[in-house]
Amino acid sequence: METTQVIVAGAGPVGTVAAYRLACMGFDVVLCEAGPNCAIDMRASTIHSPTLEMLDELGIAEELIAQGLKAPEYHFRERDTGEVVSFDLSELEGEVKYPFRLQCEQYKLANLLAKKLEEHPRAQVKFNHRVVAFNQTEDGVEVALEGPFAIEKIQAKYLVAADGGNSIIRKWLGVEFDGFTYPERFLTLSTEVDLADYIPNLCYVNYISDPKEWMVLLRVPSAWRILVPAKEDQPDDWLKSEEKKNQVFEHLIGRSDVATSHRTIYRVHQRVAKQFNHGRVCLVGDAAHLNNPLGGFGMNSGIHDAWELCSQIEQNLKQGHDDARFDLYDRRRRPVTHSFIQAQTMQNKKMLEHSPEENHAQRLQEMKDIHADRETRLAYLRKQAMFTCLAEANAVN
Ligand SMILES: Cc1cc2nc3c(=O)[nH]c(=O)nc-3n(C[C@H](O)[C@H](O)[C@H](O)COP(=O)(O)OP(=O)(O)OC[C@H]3O[C@@H](n4cnc5c(N)ncnc54)[C@H](O)[C@@H]3O)c2cc1C
Repeated sequence: METTQVIVAGAGPVGTVAAYRLACMGFDVVLCEAGPNCAIDMRASTIHSPTLEMLDELGIAEELIAQGLKAPEYHFRERDTGEVVSFDLSELEGEVKYPFRLQCEQYKLANLLAKKLEEHPRAQVKFNHRVVAFNQTEDGVEVALEGPFAIEKIQAKYLVAADGGNSIIRKWLGVEFDGFTYPERFLTLSTEVDLADYIPNLCYVNYISDPKEWMVLLRVPSAWRILVPAKEDQPDDWLKSEEKKNQVFEHLIGRSDVATSHRTIYRVHQRVAKQFNHGRVCLVGDAAHLNNPLGGFGMNSGIHDAWELCSQIEQNLKQGHDDARFDLYDRRRRPVTHSFIQAQTMQNKKMLEHSPEENHAQRLQEMKDIHADRETRLAYLRKQAMFTCLAEANAVN
């Protein structure tokens, strides 16, 4: 049977970061991915500043920045009144290395790392290899992979489950995935039409509150992405239709003859696994937690999980296995997922909605108050850029 030190399941952004960091640390790693390549996945577009610092340690930040757009500003906009509350990460200049969000399609990160892993002497990348089962032994884990023609087995010291929201590894572990699923879904449309030609003072990241239909407008190098809520009773065919697309653009820029390159519907969840570590198997990224995309925290927090877990794996491989290190991984990453990622994404959604039971005017005033005071504003910028939650997590012993 083939042996290695660590198997990483899933070549999304989180799995590729974990595998590449482990390879750079000098460990043998096998990255197995069910698909034939890193899918051209348009989900995440925002990479936050502390994540860029991690990617910088891996030596790839500049390469990725060259493929994205620097977005120092983000706006909370009121569509009916035209008010804009603008936050500018340039205010953290001198304090942080990257005073901006990087707007970059998530597949560019996964692809970049998968290519580097394919060239790395300690790494092996197996596309078209799906983890179908695993078995924990006293000092390792035996993983069964379904390849194109056969089931292969690999023996490793550790299995990192970065196999996404539908994680088969989480399901085999039987771990509860508590939380809820929103009744409405999220529809995203991508267009090459420049929305900035129609909407004055538009920056690259815009959260737009609107009594009729809230929306998020995000710029990535290849397109503008428009995210709108979709009522639960609206059929997929209609949501992806020309009629719906025309409605969205008519409402947004007053014209409907807009070509789109993607129309995708997402079901959105707020869920966290009850435990991230299970013996020699640990959950990271979407396999461990899911949240709505408002704020751009899902992939970023998943990368922060991967970072912390790799540090604990390093200690275990160098000094001998100790369960306590993976307990610490869980204590550092799981509570912050609840206290910040879950709480903040739900709050961000409420901020955009004009639901009758929510006092929108009061929430808007709170946002303006945060903005008005410099120290409060800077604290908010650090918090939304995920510096605060990362520092809190890292302080846990
Ligand atoms: C509309 C939208 C916008 C978003 N925007 C942002 C954003 O701006 N910023 C942000 O931080 N987050 C954002 N997110 C969330 C982000 O997309 C996810 O958090 C991120 O993709 C999680 O990465 P991952 O590697 O954990 O999982 P995934 O990206 O889902 O990757 C999992 C990989 O595992 C593979 N796989 C699955 N099962 C197996 C198996 N059994 N064996 C082997 N391989 C397997 C899959 O093929 C896939 O390649 C957004 C999400 C949505 C829906």
